[in-house]
Amino acid sequence: INNIPPPKRCSYSCIYCQLGGTKILTVERRRFYDTRVLRKGLSEKLSEVNEDDLDYITFVPDGEPTLDRSLSEHVKTIRELSDKPIAILTNSTLISVEDVRRDLMEFDLVSIKLDAVSEEIWRKINRPHSSLNLHEILDGVKIFRREFPGKLISETMLIDGVNSERSEIKRIADELSKIDPDKAYIAIPTRPPAENWVKPVDEEKLVESYEIFSESLGRDRVELLIGYEGAGFKIGRDPVRDLLSIATIHPIRLDYAHQILSKSIHDPDELIERLVNSGEMKLVKYRWRTFLVRRRREICED
Ligand code: SF4
Repeated sequence: INNIPPPKRCSYSCIYCQLGGTKILTVERRRFYDTRVLRKGLSEKLSEVNEDDLDYITFVPDGEPTLDRSLSEHVKTIRELSDKPIAILTNSTLISVEDVRRDLMEFDLVSIKLDAVSEEIWRKINRPHSSLNLHEILDGVKIFRREFPGKLISETMLIDGVNSERSEIKRIADELSKIDPDKAYIAIPTRPPAENWVKPVDEEKLVESYEIFSESLGRDRVELLIGYEGAGFKIGRDPVRDLLSIATIHPIRLDYAHQILSKSIHDPDELIERLVNSGEMKLVKYRWRTFLVRRRREICED
């Protein structure tokens, strides 16, 4: 669902935004589409797809979806049309406002953004509207978490040289452990960013960040979002696909990869070497361990 019409309207102007620069930097909530427009558009869409194939109906607009004052009305309309769970990706900047929290309570899944905890880095990466206050946002997220019965996930975009210092990653991880999300995603830009100097962190930094997050949140609550689809954990008949699929969402300790592969193939070393030589995966040393990590996707235009 895209509930914010162009030009791009947001309370942030993130340096990595794949929608380009923010045209209207604002925190003012207002109405955009009439709910009847949404009803018509969604009915048409639902008639074209097999609903069984949908996990969620998700708000992913051209900007920040909570700027829409009609949000809860839209959600009610969607519930009349479908019994699929409803999700929203928000930058969480307005979450300290009670009305916004009330609207977000209507969702089944809320994804919040947390790219920085230090004021200076926050300003550099998210370029917030001048009225926003980072402490208020973080407090608002925690209040929301306490009230919200649905699934809360977080996304942290790592940009090389901006929020990639170990100390900042640790601060973000510690803050997330206070927020207590069901899942914390570590992401890198995979589409052309608003600023062309923006670079994703490298595989070494991804492994380090994954480990730091895992120390604060537990391994089962941290996943990578590095531009690949279709992760799964069952080891089946195709060990290469299985290994790549696991490494899509988290680095794999080399000794674990060995254990997994040796159940189904004769020479795990040979396979691992082949995957590394072909550029599909990379071996990364972190502290005293070696990890296999999937290579980052190049930023692509699709
Ligand atoms: S919050 Fe989202 S839409 Fe807004 S600028 Fe950042 S990435 Fe783009």
